Amino acid sequence: LVMPLGQVIGSYTQLQTGLGALARVQEVLALDPEHDEVAERPAAGAVLRVPRAGDPVPLLELDGVGFGYPDGTPVLDGVSFTVPAGSRTALVGPSGAGKSTVLALVEGFYPLTSGAVRWAGTDVRELPRAALRARMGYVEQEAPVLAGTVRENLLLATPDADDAQLWQALADVGLTAVVARSPLGLDVPVGDDGVLLSGGERQRLAIARSLLSRPALLLLDEPTASLDARNEQLLRDTLAAAAADRALLVVAHRLSTVIDSDQIVVLDGGRVVAVGTHAELVDTDPLYRELATAQLLV
Ligand code: ADP
Ligand code: MG
Repeated sequence: LVMPLGQVIGSYTQLQTGLGALARVQEVLALDPEHDEVAERPAAGAVLRVPRAGDPVPLLELDGVGFGYPDGTPVLDGVSFTVPAGSRTALVGPSGAGKSTVLALVEGFYPLTSGAVRWAGTDVRELPRAALRARMGYVEQEAPVLAGTVRENLLLATPDADDAQLWQALADVGLTAVVARSPLGLDVPVGDDGVLLSGGERQRLAIARSLLSRPALLLLDEPTASLDARNEQLLRDTLAAAAADRALLVVAHRLSTVIDSDQIVVLDGGRVVAVGTHAELVDTDPLYRELATAQLLV
């Protein structure tokens, strides 16, 4: 009797986690412009352009961004950096530096105190927000995989995707074998009674969901925070594949995840303290060198 009881408790915990995640996914997916904190005022005729790799105009630009949560002290102060189209940019720094807040501002969840966020050179406040969000994928730290089937999880953001597209998305994140193992295929439930996904697999399923909407910019918050070395390697492969035709902005505590980024932005106390490649930053930035040394990367 001990085992079944343990399983019941396990399922209950998983259900709770699933429900919390569902609420968060719905929060992000269903952000109704009318209830957004940020007023939308698209300029007449504003067009959402998606620059290609090599375009001199960056896909995304933060220009002197200042921000504080309504209830607290300033969090970001004069944050400036660009994400060129098709490039991989990493955001690193100590806990509390403001990394997740940067992603929230890129998503347009809060109004800036100062500065601007530009998409292809245009202030995002002048662009139609729904169209802008449709070009961005956002995967938060706790992989929001829900109870239900693999198919249901994948279709959340793109209900019209066909089976071929779903299998392609699974292939992109290295999950084909895990799902194909079940005779139910895409209709296998995620969880105790179906395919039991590890933390790393849930993370990759969430990324697959995001990739289905073919975002020009993929925002990932600490994708490897809770992964073991093997799953981290699989996720790095996933990121490399995902980066083939889109820009990535990846927040990472674990530097090995982002060591091969085109550029790494080091954030400390709400300010950008350095920007460079891993090799450059190890040479020039004391904070980065400290983080890298602590993680045995130099
Ligand atoms: P990081 O992701 O680098 O760890 P965050 O962006 O989450 O940092 O947080 C930066 C600062 O903003 C922290 O001091 C944190 O306590 C505060 N903060 C984060 N989210 C909120 C929020 N929703 N409301 C108020 N303060 C917040
Ligand atoms: Mg964070």
